[in-house]
Amino acid sequence: MVTAIVGAGIIGTTLAYELQKRGHQVLLIDRDAPGRGASYGNMASIAVTEFMPASRPSVWRQIPGWTLDPEGPVRVRPAYMPRLIPWFARFVAASRPSRLRALEAQGAALCARVHQDLGALLRETGLEGELTEEGCLSLYTDQAEFRADREHIEILERFGFDHHLLSGADARALEPELSDKIGMAVLFPQNRSLRDPYRLVTSLADRFTAMGGRIEKAEVAGFDRSNRITALRLTDGRSLLVDQVVLAAGAHTARLSKLLDEPMPLETERGYHTQIMSPGISMRHSIIWPARAFMVTPTAGGIRVGGTVEMAGLDAAPDYRRAKITVKRASEALPNLRCEDFTEWMGHRPALPDTVPVMSASARIPGVFYATGHGHLGVTYAATNARLMADLITGARPPIDMTPYRIDRF
Ligand SMILES: Cc1cc2nc3c(=O)[nH]c(=O)nc-3n(C[C@H](O)[C@H](O)[C@H](O)COP(=O)(O)OP(=O)(O)OC[C@H]3O[C@@H](n4cnc5c(N)ncnc54)[C@H](O)[C@@H]3O)c2cc1C
Repeated sequence: MVTAIVGAGIIGTTLAYELQKRGHQVLLIDRDAPGRGASYGNMASIAVTEFMPASRPSVWRQIPGWTLDPEGPVRVRPAYMPRLIPWFARFVAASRPSRLRALEAQGAALCARVHQDLGALLRETGLEGELTEEGCLSLYTDQAEFRADREHIEILERFGFDHHLLSGADARALEPELSDKIGMAVLFPQNRSLRDPYRLVTSLADRFTAMGGRIEKAEVAGFDRSNRITALRLTDGRSLLVDQVVLAAGAHTARLSKLLDEPMPLETERGYHTQIMSPGISMRHSIIWPARAFMVTPTAGGIRVGGTVEMAGLDAAPDYRRAKITVKRASEALPNLRCEDFTEWMGHRPALPDTVPVMSASARIPGVFYATGHGHLGVTYAATNARLMADLITGARPPIDMTPYRIDRF
């Protein structure tokens, strides 16, 4: 019984490890080396306090203004706007009050499991050292900025996630490099970060192959099926016989699901990072400044600055001005930050319009499963996704109701 997983990002690799551990014969397929997609350069945050659905009236009302502002937190490339309309219509529809309450609960149900599932995975693989102990500081200049973020804090209170309100001076006691412009902050102690998300993928891939799992470097271009899936067709002309397949190709999954007549409204929310190898400062906590829409994370290879969303599809060339904007904003919070020795990177967040992922069996074809659409939280959700998907695939009973994450909800 061969279970193929297409996509060796954090989602596919973690699931491959979990299924191989449970006795499946797993074939992990990627056109690139494991972990070179979005899972490579993300902000490394185990962001359990960031499950709030992106679509809310307070957000989408600002989008037209943001799109006109080249330095705004969301940028839509004009040529891509027509392609985005159906997705954006679903995005707006997801903000109906009753739908919003349900989506919040669905995100919270996953985030509430994250430390349990991730902790177990890191312990059994000997990778506990990859997770930092420190939390994340959310920054505000003043009460007015804090009030604008109040909706977020209220949701965390409703679902019981820890947070501590700090004065600017308290925040600087934790992170002395913070500017005195910062008048208050909230510490999210559960919102910790990985030292290097790419290293986590490659380490898990090594553990997977050590258990007998196989990794194949190949691009999947199609499928053979009778009454169920039978084979994967590759761009090099080969066919691989499989009994089951999990499509976990990140933002590229919709191209594959369409070939199975099972379209999904998956977009790429492109994001950028700047990795600063010699930043001239040191930090222990990650920081996020909601009003300026950037994040800074101390990682194994220096300080990583990132954030912002660019809607421009899968094929457009990167626009690294987006990365420079976040560094400019980060310098407001960290006046001593030096950006001299750095690299820039762009990645594709796999984004569904209602923010919750698809973790599901196909509604049409026996033997096909989907694990995608983890959006801004793919690293956060990876171990939980692996636990839940492995339960679905092996016929065990998942510990939470999986109905909200089905592909046929659209
Ligand atoms: C700037 C930025 C910051 C982020 N910060 C965070 C954060 O702090 N915390 C967090 O939790 N998440 C964060 N994310 C989101 C997170 O990175 C993603 O949700 C996650 O990496 C998605 O993982 P994945 O395995 O689904 O996709 P990917 O890592 O993109 O992997 C998909 C893989 O599929 C392969 N593939 C695609 N098509 C085919 C095909 N036809 N055949 C074979 N292989 C194929 C690709 O080569 C790729 O390796 C961030 C993302 C970005 C861009």
